[in-house]
Amino acid sequence: MTELSDLYRDVIVDHNRRPRNAGRLDCPTHQAEGDNPLCGDRLRLFVDLQDDRIRDLRFENAGCAISTASASLMSEAVKGRSRAEVQALFESVHRMLTEHGAAPAASLGKLAALAGVRQYPARVKCASLCWHTLNAALAGSADPVTTE
Ligand code: ZN
Repeated sequence: MTELSDLYRDVIVDHNRRPRNAGRLDCPTHQAEGDNPLCGDRLRLFVDLQDDRIRDLRFENAGCAISTASASLMSEAVKGRSRAEVQALFESVHRMLTEHGAAPAASLGKLAALAGVRQYPARVKCASLCWHTLNAALAGSADPVTTE
């Protein structure tokens, strides 16, 4: 289990140092802003949705290592997925972050690296901010998302 934890930590450190899909899209079809005042994490998501699938996604953020790594991991995980697939993934991530004792679903892939966050309730919002923001973007909501 220790080796697995080390692997997970390495994934988070790597995605924090070199966030994937950082930046912005010139012509996003959807976008949203998220704010986690508890930690000070801020995020802006840009989504290019075509035929109900996420063709591309970028993000700009200023936040802690967990929020950055989570947004980076999410960006890789949701590209090419349909809205329904993203919703299912979001529910699996939410379960992983909040249900103790449950093994992360196999479908989560690298997102399972965030499973350890559930031991730190204050950090769960850091990890879930990007997902709530993505939900808002896909719903076409203009109101900034806040975890409060
Ligand atoms: Zn944070």
